[in-house]
Amino acid sequence: MTPKEEITQIIEEKKQEFIDAADQIWATPETRFATDRSVANFYPILEREGFQVEKGLAHMKNAFVATYGSGKPVIGILAEYDALGNLSQKADCGQHDPLVKGGNGHGCGHNLLGTGSLAGAVGIKEYMKRHELKGTIQLFGCPAEESGYGKAFMARDGVFSDLDVALSWHPMDINSAWAQSSLAVFQVYYHFKGTAAHAAAAPEQGRSALDAAELMNIGVQFLREHMIDAARVHYAFIDAGGESANVVQPSATLYYFIRAPKVEQAQEIYERVNKIAKGAALMTETQVEIDFDSACANYVPNRAVTTDLYENLKEYGSLGLTKADEEYAQRYYDTLTAETKESLKSRAQLLHPDASETEIEKMAALPVATDLAPLHFTNTASGSTDVGDVSWVVPTAQFMLACEPQGTPAHSWQWAANGKSAVAHKGVLAAGKVLATTAFDLLTKPELVAKAKEEHAKMLGGKKYISAIPENVLPR
Ligand SMILES: [Zn+2]
Repeated sequence: MTPKEEITQIIEEKKQEFIDAADQIWATPETRFATDRSVANFYPILEREGFQVEKGLAHMKNAFVATYGSGKPVIGILAEYDALGNLSQKADCGQHDPLVKGGNGHGCGHNLLGTGSLAGAVGIKEYMKRHELKGTIQLFGCPAEESGYGKAFMARDGVFSDLDVALSWHPMDINSAWAQSSLAVFQVYYHFKGTAAHAAAAPEQGRSALDAAELMNIGVQFLREHMIDAARVHYAFIDAGGESANVVQPSATLYYFIRAPKVEQAQEIYERVNKIAKGAALMTETQVEIDFDSACANYVPNRAVTTDLYENLKEYGSLGLTKADEEYAQRYYDTLTAETKESLKSRAQLLHPDASETEIEKMAALPVATDLAPLHFTNTASGSTDVGDVSWVVPTAQFMLACEPQGTPAHSWQWAANGKSAVAHKGVLAAGKVLATTAFDLLTKPELVAKAKEEHAKMLGGKKYISAIPENVLPR
């Protein structure tokens, strides 16, 4: 048996504890930093497996690091476990049907993400123990990926600074190495304060915070013409004053997301948006408080590690789905519109330009994708992730594994419904195998780690990572 075969066998032997933990986390969906019950599923397993667990990091009680082994290299694996609001959904149900009306749900598969990473850490640890392999493996419990950005605070506070390489993954509806960038984002509240007055009897005595918020939005609409094309700015009204139209609204709060391909670009737009907010306050004789919530950097994949990881994804990333699994997932595929089904063909064509029409049709019709996207590094970016900050501190690689129904998007009821199925469980185990075998390569090939670090140093160009989150801002 090769070392990698042994590692995958270890994960198979211990699979029930990972699956049980994934189901437990699914059953108690918690959001942002308030993931007390979710994180508690990791501790007994890690302690039983001989990891040293440090609970509470970077001002977050639900962040942790579990360590096994000693010396170099130090390989980190990232785990997430937060859910999303308003995505409660009955398991295995082929239609939108909340378990708890308005409740939380695992619509991004982080119950699988966290436990797949756990399986990876336990798998490589057990191999290290059996064969007295040198080096250190660390599993990081990272809260609030969905908007608070736990990893960005952890990166700012030096939690990842001793790592040589970091690895992660995400459940998806495609199989692919994560070879593209992501957008940097700044998340900021703008609180306007004015003076209440009767809107008809004494309007001259009132100063409208709501007017200020509206004028700020108008200012930002005009700014759009003078931003780089790739920037994205969106907002939500968190407070629009009150429900009485006959009151000059004394308070209003806007929540802004400011995104751009690079942190410096997002910073520049953020500063201009601040000026607009101040201008709106000046025009309306109100006050504005600029309240920085969180930020994360753009993701930069480390090509050396991603290329190695891709080989392991090819070898160990298959879910080995049965006919019954396919029949199960068909219920979600059936919810797709004709347009979405058609778009799956275009996607397959784009990923596999040499495939025949029949092959494309076949690929696009599968309820769970089984093809592997070719490894192709690009600078295109759409969403944001706090793995971005990790990638600026240490060489980082991640991948996406198709254990969600093909064609269904992240943050959907379909993902929440699929979250404790056999398909999802097989995703947890396959992800663990890819992570553990890649960690094995990193522990046994010093030249790979050296190459990864050289590439990372080149990317930084002599500069040091500086967090976009000001020092006085704490996770909340
Ligand atoms: Zn996610």
